[in-house]
Amino acid sequence: KSFIQINNLLRTYQVGENEVAAVNSMEFEIEQGEFVVILGPSGSGKSTLLNLLGGMDQATSGTILIEGNNIAQYSLEELSRYRRSDIGFVFQFYNLIPNLTAKENVDLSRKLCKDGLDSTEMLEAVGLAKRLHHFPAELSGGEQQRVSIARALCKKPKLLLCDEPTGALDSNTGALIMSVLWDISKKYNQTVIVVTHNAAIADTANKVIRLKDGKVIDIQINENPLPMN
Ligand code: ADP
Ligand code: ADP
Repeated sequence: KSFIQINNLLRTYQVGENEVAAVNSMEFEIEQGEFVVILGPSGSGKSTLLNLLGGMDQATSGTILIEGNNIAQYSLEELSRYRRSDIGFVFQFYNLIPNLTAKENVDLSRKLCKDGLDSTEMLEAVGLAKRLHHFPAELSGGEQQRVSIARALCKKPKLLLCDEPTGALDSNTGALIMSVLWDISKKYNQTVIVVTHNAAIADTANKVIRLKDGKVIDIQINENPLPMN
C-alpha cells in the first residue's frame, strides 16, 4: 500500500449553467519520503488538487487515502484537525511575521503542536544557522523562504505541501530552495509535494505528475533526479 493513494478523484464547480471539473478522474500514488512535483499550466487543476490534499477543500467524489485514512470523507472538523497536525504548508510568498525573528517565527508555529522539533535545529537544517535572530526584512527572499520551510517542518508534518515555492525567486535562488527541499526530504524521509507551472523544476523530483484540463496526462519517474542548474 502506498503512503498516499488517490482514486477517481473529482472536484467540480458550477459555473453558470456549466459544471467545470477542476480535478477530473485523477489517479496516482505517492510513497513516503518521495519528492513529487505536480506540474501543469494555469487552469490545469493544480491549486484545486493542492487544496484537496491539504484539507482546505472537499472532493465531489473519489478517495484520498493518506496512510489508509480517506480524508475525502472527513467532516470539516476532522479536516481542520488534519490540516493542523498533518500538513506543513510553504507558499510562494513567505508570510513571515515581520516583527518576529527567524527563530521566533518558527517557535510560534512549533508551540501550536504537542512535540514539535527544535526550531534552531530546523533552521540549521535549512542552512540558516547564522540567521536565527534576524528579522524577515533583514533576510533575502531565499532566506525568508528557508525560514518558512523550517516553520512548516517543525511540526513534523506527514506531508509538506509547497505551492509555487520558487515563484517569487530568481532562478538560482529557486534552485537552491529546491535543493533544500530535496535534502530535507531525503534526510528526514519527509514526503514533499511541490506544485508549479515551472517545467525547469521537473527533473529534480523523484516523480513528476503532469496535469492538463483537470486530468493527469503523464506520470514520470526519475530514477536519478538531477539537481537544478
Ligand atoms: P491551476 O492552479 O492549475 O491554475 P485551478 O485548480 O485554479 O488551476 O483551476 C482549475 C479549473 O477550475 C479552472 O478552469 C478554473 O477556472 C476552475 N476553478 C477553480 N476554482 C474555481 C471556483 N472556485 N469556481 C469556479 N471554477 C473554479
Ligand atoms: P524520535 O526517535 O525521538 O521519535 P523522530 O523520529 O521524531 O525522533 O526524529 C528524529 C530526528 O529527525 C529528530 O532529530 C528530528 O529533528 C528529525 N525529524 C523527524 N521528522 C522530521 C520532519 N518531518 N522534518 C524535519 N525533521 C524531522
